[in-house]
Amino acid sequence: MLKKVDVVIIGASASGLMCAIEAGKRKRKVLVLDHANKAGKKILMSGGGRCNFTNYDVSAENYISHNPHFCKSALSRFTQWDFIAMVGDYKIPYHERSHGQLFCDDSAKDILNMLLDECKAVSVEIKLKTNIKSVAKADNGRFIIISDTEKISAESLVIATGGLSIPKIGATPFGYQIAEQFGHHVYPTYAGLVPFTLQPGDKEKLSPLSGIAVEAVVKNDRQSFREAILFTHRGLSGPVILQMSSYWHPGEAVEINLLPDVDLFEFLLQKQKEGSQQRVKSVLATLLPQRLIAALVDEGIMDKSFQDTPHAHFKQVASQLQKWRVSPNGTEGYRTAEVTLGGVDCNELSSKTMQSNKIAGLYFVGEVMDVTGWLGGYNFQWSWSSGWCAGQCV
Ligand SMILES: Cc1cc2nc3c(=O)[nH]c(=O)nc-3n(C[C@H](O)[C@H](O)[C@H](O)COP(=O)(O)OP(=O)(O)OC[C@H]3O[C@@H](n4cnc5c(N)ncnc54)[C@H](O)[C@@H]3O)c2cc1C
Repeated sequence: MLKKVDVVIIGASASGLMCAIEAGKRKRKVLVLDHANKAGKKILMSGGGRCNFTNYDVSAENYISHNPHFCKSALSRFTQWDFIAMVGDYKIPYHERSHGQLFCDDSAKDILNMLLDECKAVSVEIKLKTNIKSVAKADNGRFIIISDTEKISAESLVIATGGLSIPKIGATPFGYQIAEQFGHHVYPTYAGLVPFTLQPGDKEKLSPLSGIAVEAVVKNDRQSFREAILFTHRGLSGPVILQMSSYWHPGEAVEINLLPDVDLFEFLLQKQKEGSQQRVKSVLATLLPQRLIAALVDEGIMDKSFQDTPHAHFKQVASQLQKWRVSPNGTEGYRTAEVTLGGVDCNELSSKTMQSNKIAGLYFVGEVMDVTGWLGGYNFQWSWSSGWCAGQCV
């Protein structure tokens, strides 16, 4: 039997549920399909279980896309303030962390439950554990979606299947395949917001530092971030590395300043002028963890007394700690990445409605599109904004 609805949304997570709520408010008959056994799994695991659901400061500069202007319209039509108001209506307790990031006080479940309650209030039907076998457009302009349990006809089809990160909770390339099936261009995809792995030599040298975290500036020719760097037994992580990974090209080096608030060369010269009798090692240990210094600074210099150290060696130490160049071996990939860079080409979509410029009634929302946010709640904000915009039109 053919089931008829107005809107089928594939993907029951951030962007799909937001789109469903808005379409439901317009009295559209909405069916959301997902192959997972639970809606919103990524919401639940986000922000360490507390969901960094948006940011006080959102602008197009916080997003990476081949079309950097595309996101502006949606972000201005459904803003962070609109989502914060929704969270407020549900009396969900939240707090601000550094850089304007907003997290739930209690649990990411609060955000998911809010979205599911909103769906229920406007009679959105959500069917989980549903595998999509095929999608086609019939001569009458409607979409025919065949799942493992039914055949559905819909006027609008929304692809909200996200990116490729964390395959073990159900990420698939489905959205990209559908885009290509309907003649859309898809930019190559890469893992983003992901830890770096190290070349064997660096790994051996740095893995004993596992657990150390310090504030650092990490940069390449195109971008610079200042946040914590975390040394792990697999490589380099922490927010500053995750941010940088989205701007990193394989083979390229990044430059790390482990003492962003100090002019180290000047500091060391000053100490010498003051007649310090300490060893270089002891002075550096007042600035950074000793194990970190031991791994990065030449042993010969470390043991010298201040008065015996030539200025060239101070220069060398400053360079080793403040212009430390690392060429990552790669990243940890989709297994641990928070997002996928690349995806459905925005130039073939309406920035107001997310509708395809090629196929009437076909929409893409959320991470499947070539719009990737920084760490800090920007990716969810993109899902809310793009899902909301499509929801006004589907
Ligand atoms: C560990 C982790 C932590 C994160 N923390 C944050 C954070 O704190 N703040 C932030 O802003 N962003 C965070 N992100 C990113 C954020 O989760 C995503 O950008 C966001 O969930 C994208 O929403 P989406 O609806 O587009 O896709 P998703 O949330 O990925 O949802 C896609 C849905 O489609 C379904 N699906 C996929 N393939 C198929 C198929 N073939 N058939 C049927 N259904 C399918 C999936 O089961 C899933 O339910 C985090 C990501 C990860 C991995």
